[in-house]
Amino acid sequence: MNIAIDGPGGSGKSVLAKNLARRLGLVYVDTGALYRTVGLNACRHGVAMDDKEGIIASLEGITVGIKYEDGEQHVYLCNEDVSDYIRTPEISMYASAVSSVPEVRAFLDGTQRRMVERGGVVMDGRDIGTVIMPNADVKIFLFASPEHRAERRYEELLQKGEHVTLEEVLSDINKRDRADRERETAPAVPAEDAVMLDNSGFEPEDTFAAAIRIINEKLGTNYDDVL
Ligand code: C5P
Repeated sequence: MNIAIDGPGGSGKSVLAKNLARRLGLVYVDTGALYRTVGLNACRHGVAMDDKEGIIASLEGITVGIKYEDGEQHVYLCNEDVSDYIRTPEISMYASAVSSVPEVRAFLDGTQRRMVERGGVVMDGRDIGTVIMPNADVKIFLFASPEHRAERRYEELLQKGEHVTLEEVLSDINKRDRADRERETAPAVPAEDAVMLDNSGFEPEDTFAAAIRIINEKLGTNYDDVL
């Protein structure tokens, strides 16, 4: 079984995908981490976010890959584990900027397709149901109001010791959503056969239960025992 979860930032995709992976015995693939790694590399090279040629040039000679350590996904830039450096607000904006460049998407295509070929994955991102896994067994498009999403992100960032205000987080989320949705290549829009799930005000367990109901309905399974 392969499950695709798409949706905007802060909608809780990664928490849902991790829960599904653990309780249904699937491998979780966080594709945003790949774009964040390319963004980190561009940032380290001093490439401006709107410098398309510079972003393309920054791909030269690098490798971006995924490894699993103790069941957790780690992302590597060449031989360096950069998992701890890619979650800052600055790198979120860089990730969004580089992801609109078709050459970057093509560069990360192979890594994602290799994971799909292994099978038994729950993958989250923006174009999983539309481009990377058009044949996924279940596609969920997870979303919530920008205010709910900003509050979640804000709490996460505070816990990590980042100095941000709720207003800054909300403004970044709105900018990133618009850019991701309106870009020409692989825009962040639901696949035609995706099930829309609004989890505004939901706790992670509520989102998980709603996803299990969607899976059961779609596949005729009975996974209620994992609730
Ligand atoms: O999911 P996450 O917030 O980590 O993704 C960071 C950025 O990477 C997104 O804002 C989006 O621009 C880009 N992305 C993408 N396609 C994916 C996953 C992420 O364009 N499949």
